[in-house]
Amino acid sequence: MKNTIILFLTILTIFACKPKVEKAKEDNTTTVSLDKNSIKKVDVHTHYEFNRDYLPKFFEDWNMKGVLVDVAHHTPEGVGRSWSEYVALQKKHPDLFWLCSSLIGAGIDNPDFVDKEIARLKKEIEQGAKMVKVWKNFGMITKDKSGKFIQIDDERLQPIFDFLAAEGIAVMAHIAEPIQAWRPLDDPKNPHYGYYNEHPEYHAYKHPEIPTYETIIAARDNWISKNPDLKILCAHMGSMSHDVNMIAEHLDKYDNLYVEPAARFGDLVGQDEEKVRAFFGKYQDRIMFGTDFGNHIQQDSLSATELAAERAYLEEEYTLRWQYLSSKDSVEIRSQKSEGLGLSEEILQKVYYQNFADFFEVE
Ligand SMILES: [Zn+2]
Repeated sequence: MKNTIILFLTILTIFACKPKVEKAKEDNTTTVSLDKNSIKKVDVHTHYEFNRDYLPKFFEDWNMKGVLVDVAHHTPEGVGRSWSEYVALQKKHPDLFWLCSSLIGAGIDNPDFVDKEIARLKKEIEQGAKMVKVWKNFGMITKDKSGKFIQIDDERLQPIFDFLAAEGIAVMAHIAEPIQAWRPLDDPKNPHYGYYNEHPEYHAYKHPEIPTYETIIAARDNWISKNPDLKILCAHMGSMSHDVNMIAEHLDKYDNLYVEPAARFGDLVGQDEEKVRAFFGKYQDRIMFGTDFGNHIQQDSLSATELAAERAYLEEEYTLRWQYLSSKDSVEIRSQKSEGLGLSEEILQKVYYQNFADFFEVE
């Protein structure tokens, strides 16, 4: 069992964009009234890198499909990706998954940067990519030759976004981090306490060279306004999850913007439920469902017990989010407690499926 726990911690911390383990509440006395299978679902933000024999049945039980989201990140050797793993898994389960490629700004000073990136993206679109992810390395990590952090509104990237807009390929944007990353984190009940303890390199408060939250968000907003024809899905509630009013202002301002709450359910649960309920009501056509769940270890490296535990963990975590969105049960996610939103079936259908289907132009 100890090995299993260590394994899970490894699985959950390998990628920086993975959430902290979100614990189910201990007092499991309430029940979800609506059957989880009754609403068609898509998890728009997953990282299932390797096959699991349980996946088809698991997704069928949840009446769910998923988008496999690649993340390009810096490694000591250069740029790391999991694209080929995601392509292989999507090929194995074409009815279960869609693909999201990725873009990183490493090499932006090279004269052939744009041509090379567009050629690569063309190939990956042919392989099935329906979306391209840009990650928080823009703004916080990757620097150009002059030593400046590359912001997402950098002119040198614009031809790539023009290309994606022309192709009708959406961009998933994980730009910046939750605002708490720029603040001291002394309270273990802070929903991001665990993550920044495990990943101090992204705790911007401790790295004064990292641009401010406001600088990165302003660059992100400038990029959105410069690209009105690009379909943009802001992952993690656009790093504005601490305040649904701030998300609302952005959705009002930019018609091409959508949001999904992967790894930020704790921030929503931490806000007044009436306010969050009203937010979901008003923006029911602009919110999708995402989790950030996945795996990063090959199936044959895990024992049957470990695989069963992994599946049980996913079941528990998807249930918790379903409970929060569909019921008025009391829920606890990342030490935040609240009453569930009890969204109507119509809103659940949109958030869990229809908004994605319209955005991705799939049936
Ligand atoms: Zn992610």
